[in-house]
Amino acid sequence: MAPHHVVLIPGDGIGPSIADCVRKVFEKAEVDIVWHEHTAGVSALALGKDVMPDETLEAIEHYKIALKGPCSTPVGEGFRSVNVALRKRLNLYAAVRPVKSLPGVRTRYEGVDLIIVRENTEGLYSGVENEVLPGVVMSMKVASEAACNRIAHWAFRFATRRRRKRITAMHKANIMKLTDGLFIRCARTANKLDYPNIEYDEMIIDAGCMKIVQDPTKFDILLLENLYGDVMSDLCAGLVGGLGVVPGANIGDQRAVFEAVHGSAPDIVGKGIANPLALMMSATMMLDHMAEELDKPTLQKQAAQIRSAYERAILDGQKTRDLGGELGTDGFTEAVIERLSDGSARDC
Ligand code: NAD
Repeated sequence: MAPHHVVLIPGDGIGPSIADCVRKVFEKAEVDIVWHEHTAGVSALALGKDVMPDETLEAIEHYKIALKGPCSTPVGEGFRSVNVALRKRLNLYAAVRPVKSLPGVRTRYEGVDLIIVRENTEGLYSGVENEVLPGVVMSMKVASEAACNRIAHWAFRFATRRRRKRITAMHKANIMKLTDGLFIRCARTANKLDYPNIEYDEMIIDAGCMKIVQDPTKFDILLLENLYGDVMSDLCAGLVGGLGVVPGANIGDQRAVFEAVHGSAPDIVGKGIANPLALMMSATMMLDHMAEELDKPTLQKQAAQIRSAYERAILDGQKTRDLGGELGTDGFTEAVIERLSDGSARDC
């Protein structure tokens, strides 16, 4: 059988070391993938390339699927976010972040199983900012009917395929009546006309945040515009053990880029303590996506085996420090590989 081709962008900071862990685990699980490595972000700049090199974008356009490590973005100055540019250029309009309790990771809550669906191309991330007068600056929040309808329909289709029951849209349409108003009107219409079997409700985002931290198990799928979705992704990561345990995907009609929710963690670069789990989880999500798109059940089976291996490692107390364990990046990777080799990783 022909191998599958995936673009790998190791990224910046802890990115290259955790990307390496994923490669090792995939090799052990005998996933038949040819990785096409390309750069982006500060590591591309260091090689004298553009921060988002055309060759990287062209490779993703060609192979249609990528696994990406985190890329750094300077705060308040310098170049614009590589991540935002990538999502816009490739029209990866749906960001998906599953947030699930992991057995063996102790947190305040048990049984959390929610999915964040975030509109990825508009809102305050339009990148339209200017100085109106000296000392007065402005950021433009953009919402178009086409993009609001597109993400609403995507979320309901996704809910139907995954047999999820309810979508909760979070918004601030009491204040931003036009932009957030349009966002929820599109969601309401999609629900009423096309997906009446999925329950739908709405919450003003500030009240929604309070309800989520009170009891996250009451939520199923959250639908949010760009900025709220970004903030909510980290908030919800905190409910299940932090940024080290939440995977993510940016999905368009033709292409998809999988990446962890966390950033390049400059404070721990080179210390050997970065948790590779979130990127590993994103990579298994990628295998599930490829299995579905390409109708390749073997990939799904391999994803299940890798998932089972890391879940068993965690249950056995083999954890990195951010999860209360003692292992470093390599130690955790070895623990996963051992469980793949000893056959204890079973389909789940
Ligand atoms: P961050 O996620 O990099 O770090 C926040 C905290 O979490 C830090 O203390 C860090 O050490 C810890 N952390 C993050 N990932 C970890 C892991 N895998 N294992 C153990 N600990 C981990 O967020 P930040 O500090 O706000 O951002 C740093 C850089 O990353 C910025 O330049 C930002 O723009 C970028 N960023 C990129 C992405 C992306 O590429 N998708 C996402 C978020 C932030």
